Amino acid sequence: MSDLDITEIRRQFPILSREVDGKPLIYLDNAATAQTPQSVVDCIDNVYHSCKANVHRGVHTLSQEATDLMEQTREKVRALINAESTDEIIFTRGTTEAINLVASSFSDTFFHGDDIIVTVMEHHSNIVPWQLVQRHKRVILHVIPMNPKGELMLDEFNDMFTDNTRLLSICQVSNVLGTVNPVKEMIKIAHSHGVPVLIDGAQAVPHSHIDVRDLDADFYAFSAHKMYGPSGVGVLYGKRRFLEMMPPYQGGGEMIGHVSFEKTTFADLPFKFEAGTPDFVGIAAFGKAIDFVNSIGIDNIAAHEHDLLVAATDGLMKIPGMRIFGNSPSKGAVISFLVGDIHHYDMGMLLDKLGVAVRTGHHCAQPLMTAMGVEGTVRASFAVYNTFEEVQAFVDAVSRVSQMF
Ligand SMILES: *Cc1c(COP(=O)(O)O)cnc(C)c1O
Repeated sequence: MSDLDITEIRRQFPILSREVDGKPLIYLDNAATAQTPQSVVDCIDNVYHSCKANVHRGVHTLSQEATDLMEQTREKVRALINAESTDEIIFTRGTTEAINLVASSFSDTFFHGDDIIVTVMEHHSNIVPWQLVQRHKRVILHVIPMNPKGELMLDEFNDMFTDNTRLLSICQVSNVLGTVNPVKEMIKIAHSHGVPVLIDGAQAVPHSHIDVRDLDADFYAFSAHKMYGPSGVGVLYGKRRFLEMMPPYQGGGEMIGHVSFEKTTFADLPFKFEAGTPDFVGIAAFGKAIDFVNSIGIDNIAAHEHDLLVAATDGLMKIPGMRIFGNSPSKGAVISFLVGDIHHYDMGMLLDKLGVAVRTGHHCAQPLMTAMGVEGTVRASFAVYNTFEEVQAFVDAVSRVSQMF
């Protein structure tokens, strides 16, 4: 068991002390968004109070201070994922926009009849952008299947590459099953076929140490709001040689070198991909979220969350009719389940009445639901501030609701 002082950590999250329906809030929807510590909220407040000014433009002091805050976060992100250079860190609105950026820009190199490989457990944001590419080019999505435990079938994967395969785009951790996919090994295999790889790390960066150079990922996408940061900020990491050859994603201010009506040149990396005024307040605050994670240590966070997962799984499994989706030994702090034939929505609503916030439905992964033969599930997901008492109260609540039917 980890020796984190969870009481002290919780003190940094005032929202965790609120009540729902007269019951203490038990927030177990962290895979949808994690709560933000006071330091992040204070930073937003501070920027608005002290140095709100547009970035990268003004010579005046406020603008320089705002720019410094934004660029400090870029360096923190670089260090967090061990990218070689801050030029390879593009700020986006989130994982979704990061993947759309690659789909829109990198697909310039695709031809009719090209293949993209994804997995059956992708979030819609790693499916639909590739389908939008199909408006212009007839690219074909190939889907890596999974076994009954919710693990990718690597033998099938090995046989999926053809001369027309242009990209492997897969999640590192499933937001529904919790499965941690062996992405390092899969990247190696893709590279042996000369195929670049995009990793959707939305559920990985908040919960584990990520080193994009050790993984040898070509693109890596994640969101600030799932790692204790503000909403509206995300990151696309890309290897310099890919980002340099890719055309801009959007046009506007900030991303240009020189503009005339005859010809416009584009700014250098990373600004080429950051058209318009960015969410500089959110980006500044994201830096504080990274500081928060570093102050605890990502390995300590992972260890605590793993202990919570084990405790929750053991407790839930004692409930008659319990079905847990995703039983890989290599699993992040996410539990999707159904009990008997209780509808996921009814379970979620009744848990809410007991103060327990969980997610219900398809979790933006309808093809995965289809593959599992269900319409939706109930999902509990953990963060560093969750406690064993909360896990016990959650298990008791599920048990109580189950007995009502
Ligand atoms: C949440 C999530 C996304 C989308 O992230 P946004 O912040 O909504 O853009 C993509 N993939 C996975 C695995 C996710 O969990």
